[in-house]
Amino acid sequence: MNIGILYICTGNYTIFWNDFYLSCEKKFFPGKERYYFVFTDGNINTFGNPNVQIIHQPKLGWPYDTLMRFKMFIGIEDKLRQTDYLFFFNANMIVKEPVGEEILPSDDEELVVAMHPTYFMETDPDKYSYDRNPESLAYIPIGEGKEYVQGAFNGGKSEKFLTMCRILDDNTDKDLSRNVIALWHDESHLNRYILDKHVKVLHPGYIYPEGRDLPFEMIMYTRKKKKYGGHNVLRGIKRESFFSRLNKFFRRIVRRKSDYMTK
Ligand code: UDP
Repeated sequence: MNIGILYICTGNYTIFWNDFYLSCEKKFFPGKERYYFVFTDGNINTFGNPNVQIIHQPKLGWPYDTLMRFKMFIGIEDKLRQTDYLFFFNANMIVKEPVGEEILPSDDEELVVAMHPTYFMETDPDKYSYDRNPESLAYIPIGEGKEYVQGAFNGGKSEKFLTMCRILDDNTDKDLSRNVIALWHDESHLNRYILDKHVKVLHPGYIYPEGRDLPFEMIMYTRKKKKYGGHNVLRGIKRESFFSRLNKFFRRIVRRKSDYMTK
């Protein structure tokens, strides 16, 4: 059995690679043949491991660096088909405790996903952060849903994982062609995809946010982005100047007023 690890680190996210790789080598399916597919525009350390393949990926800008993940994976589908299992990790993840066969989906499970650490106590799916925009192919109507999963870690049998990537790449493109971006990008599409499927759902201890106190064993965790400058700095989002925000604010008011007057 061999394992493919999918990892995106464009722009400032390259900062996370070394620690992620070292933790993965130690604790994620230790002893199994592992292949790393690293999508990056940076100069990352391959640690002399021939199984670390770098796929040149220009920084697309936020939110495309994460939204377009399915297209990135489909772009090297032939290579990925040679693996038995594929797992995607958010760049800021660390594998803390040994992880192995216990996370593999069974034959009748489509994928393995992890329950979002913010929603594990919530039993009413109407309160989940699903995309409620009927214009998006990630749309989930009120009254539907089972659990809310986070996009930070997911995987499964390579064939099934790649089927998901093809469908979600297509859905993302269709959305974009109508100027629609799903609420939480890839995560919203993933939640829509699993809605009518049988999947293995891991507890939030597999994506434990560093610094939070959850009633689960911390098996894998997501590093606090604040320590590295925060979301915007990492994503390369420049804060707009005060005058530009003020200008937009007034333009919005003027637009609203003229909409109102033409009603
Ligand atoms: N990402 C990246 N470069 C960026 C922004 C995002 O490589 O400039 C990738 C990276 O793998 C990251 C993932 O997209 O873990 C999800 O983005 P982010 O962590 O910012 O979103 P979150 O899911 O934490 O809200």
